[in-house]
Formats: sequence, structure tokens, C-alpha cells
Amino acid sequence: MTEATIFDKIINREIPATVIYEDDDVLAFNDINPQAPIHFLVIPKVQIRTANDINNDNAELVGKLYVAAAKIADEMGFADNGFRCVMNCNPDGGQTVYHIHLHVLAGKALGWPPYQETLKK
Ligand code: 5GP
Repeated sequence: MTEATIFDKIINREIPATVIYEDDDVLAFNDINPQAPIHFLVIPKVQIRTANDINNDNAELVGKLYVAAAKIADEMGFADNGFRCVMNCNPDGGQTVYHIHLHVLAGKALGWPPYQETLKK
């Protein structure tokens, strides 16, 4: 049995979120701590804990996160300007919620690389 996360509460409408897209398989809602003018999360309605748990059995579902992101980008009008999709994995990747989610960031020209630290030689 996998441990429930805050995202299960959002899926079940036990806590509020600004939901911007929903279908049978995925839910998208604005990030509570936005890192860009547009920053939302696309999650599967069933829990997959980390990117390490992506496999051939759930590949179609994971692909639907990107399908939803592209659809939302088109509907919100930022597809042509562009956007970034990020999935953090485990502590070194900066993952804090263990239910995979695609961060979709848009609304300005985003810097690259996205991390701040200086690489040690
Ligand atoms: P991670 O660090 O796991 O890649 O991303 C987790 C994201 O979930 C963070 O960007 C964080 O701001 C967002 N988040 C955490 N708790 C909540 C919440 O209760 N509501 C919403 N809308 N976003 C949340």
C-alpha cells in the first residue's frame, strides 16, 4: 500500500486547488508556490511515486501528462511562445511530493540551466 500524499487530497477535493484541467486519467492545477508567471502541475489520478517507477505498464498514462500539458498550453495561449516541463525525482532531483507530477512553467523566457549552484571541478 503506497502512502497517500497531499495530491490525493487535491484529487479527492479534500483540500482546495485551482484546477485548470481534468479528464478520466489526469488532473492539472496551479502550483501553490509558483516559480514562473504560469506554473501548474499535471498529475496522474493514480499514484506513481517517482520517475523511477515509470515502466511499460504505466507509460501510456505518463504520456497523457504531456498530452494534457500540450492541450492546456494551446488553450491558454502560450504554446507558441513555449514552456518547460520538469519532473523532479527523489531528494537530489528536488522532489518533495511522492506522486509524480509534471511541472509546467511558462509566461516568460526561462533561464537555463535551472539550478543555481556552481559545479565543483
Ligand atoms: P516537487 O518539489 O515534488 O517537484 O514539487 C512539488 C510541488 O507541489 C511544489 O512546487 C509545491 O509548491 C507544490 N505543492 C505542494 N503542496 C501543494 C498544495 O497543497 N497545493 C498546490 N497547489 N501545490 C502544492
